[in-house]
Amino acid sequence: MKCPVCGMDCVKSAKDLLATLSSFYTPCPECSSRMLDKHRPHARLDYAPSCSCGKRFIDEVFAHIYVIMTDMGDLTLQDPLIAAGSPLIHPGIALDRPPFLPHDSLVLLSSRVTRKTAEKLVREVPEVRGVVKTGDFVPGIAGPDLTTVPRTYELLAGCDVRADIFPLPTGPLVIYKQQSLVHIEFPRAGYPKLRSLVSKVGSPPVPFFVDACSGVGTLGLAAGCLGVPHVILNDAWYASAFWSAFNLEVNREYLKIDRVRIFEQIADMQKHPVSRDQIRIAETDGDQSIEIYQGDFRSLPEVIPPGSSPLTALDIFDKNNPRALQKIREEWAGKVGGEVFIP
Ligand SMILES: [Zn+2]
Ligand SMILES: [Zn+2]
Repeated sequence: MKCPVCGMDCVKSAKDLLATLSSFYTPCPECSSRMLDKHRPHARLDYAPSCSCGKRFIDEVFAHIYVIMTDMGDLTLQDPLIAAGSPLIHPGIALDRPPFLPHDSLVLLSSRVTRKTAEKLVREVPEVRGVVKTGDFVPGIAGPDLTTVPRTYELLAGCDVRADIFPLPTGPLVIYKQQSLVHIEFPRAGYPKLRSLVSKVGSPPVPFFVDACSGVGTLGLAAGCLGVPHVILNDAWYASAFWSAFNLEVNREYLKIDRVRIFEQIADMQKHPVSRDQIRIAETDGDQSIEIYQGDFRSLPEVIPPGSSPLTALDIFDKNNPRALQKIREEWAGKVGGEVFIP
């Protein structure tokens, strides 16, 4: 599969990605590991090279990044190691111990890095696949206001497309995203959102599930993998709707579908970064009907068949505002019916 961001082959189907996973972050007998204190400066300015197996312990990779960033002036020798940024591994899975990283398995998020340094990091640190400059805001749509174009982080060098892998009773779900454009969701221990979805969907599964604020598609596609015959995913932000459609294609082998029809490519979607009315982005042919829309969830009821009473997940921003939440739930119940849950 061609990567929609860099045009190279950095994305794989779920099946191909999962085939390599069991030993992906494990060391060979020759691999060495040195634990470094992330909250102190790495004053020795040294780092070990990759092992002959091609992997390197994550702390050594971070020491290498730190050495380059201090040398380039992005960090000072008073800065702790952690000031270099946050490492996001690709593919992202829950790990019992720190990983030994193969080539191209790390996206670095950093508020301190400059473009020139980012280019050097991608060139010289083999594990780094991309470098993203972060800010003190949430990238993508961060509130109920849809009138302004949201801010995003900036990809400075390499490619910031990466996948997270989520466990389901039916097998793992692979969810790709372009990291600079969507909010960072560190999988929480035990995957509480997915667990609540699995219990709501039930067995046999409900006939119809709506993921009204789908993000990059995790809950909606999980419902598809759990066998829900009809699923609608929707998000107002183009990057979320695009990656939902992309992830539908990535996981198609686990769904009862014959074909995925994509109606808009990413370049078309960039022309309408935020949409209020529903734009149809993708749908499937086959035993399972999965539809993806870009639009405001408040107008989503217009594309839901009347009387179909779906199970709806409303993963909205205003979770800390109980009155707004109650109003949204009541409106949804009045227009669409069925059961609503806030994951
Ligand atoms: Zn790429
Ligand atoms: Zn090794």
